Amino acid sequence: MTLENSLLIVGGTGRLTVPLPTFLIEHERGLVLFDTGLVPEAADDPHLIYGELVEEAGIEMTPDQRIDRQLATIGFRPEDITHVILSHTHLDHTGGLSLFPQAKFFIQRGELGYGYWPYPAAAAFFRQADFEPIRAIGWHEVDGDFDLFGDGSIRILACPGHTPGNASLFVQLSDRSFIIAGDTVHSTHAIEAELPASPDANTEQAIWSIRKIKRLAEAWQADIWVPHDPDQWPEFAHAPEYYS
Ligand SMILES: [Zn+2]
Repeated sequence: MTLENSLLIVGGTGRLTVPLPTFLIEHERGLVLFDTGLVPEAADDPHLIYGELVEEAGIEMTPDQRIDRQLATIGFRPEDITHVILSHTHLDHTGGLSLFPQAKFFIQRGELGYGYWPYPAAAAFFRQADFEPIRAIGWHEVDGDFDLFGDGSIRILACPGHTPGNASLFVQLSDRSFIIAGDTVHSTHAIEAELPASPDANTEQAIWSIRKIKRLAEAWQADIWVPHDPDQWPEFAHAPEYYS
């Protein structure tokens, strides 16, 4: 997406092109996806899916960026996914949800209501059609930090502020650990400066959530990966590369 930087960071200027990644984690008890990107069909006809938002938000997507094709490049099919964790209900994270009807869907308490009935100032950031199919499948709503497999390796971190049920994700690998920030923060600079985003649902909570991942990253010696930071993007490996 190419957005006004002021939407991403308070005081930001100009326009910025940001990546919209998803993250796949292999665990002995399942194949876990964190966020789902844009609707796959938008690669062929973005206006059919997103209408005028294509120009407003600078939506660009190539066929090889579809989440099903990204999975195929590393040897997986959508039906292999066992767990989907959603950082929040903004449309750049919900687009692929319906590809995984066999999965368990995890989301923080308070997020679904906000996604269905957002504040007017933030309403343009949602596509309810993306998460409506999951209503019939069932959500696993969690209240606060949640250890997905009970071994500490994948922990959903409650980070309210950007949205009421916004979450980050801690991932412990054998010799490295990450906090995938989700949209708790939108650039590495904003971590240091503790800068929230202007459309955040609750600015004070957003700042405390930035402090939370900052302090946890220090305590756990984890690297913070800010998914929407284009400057940090080249620092990390992308599929088909991986971390172990
Ligand atoms: Zn986002």
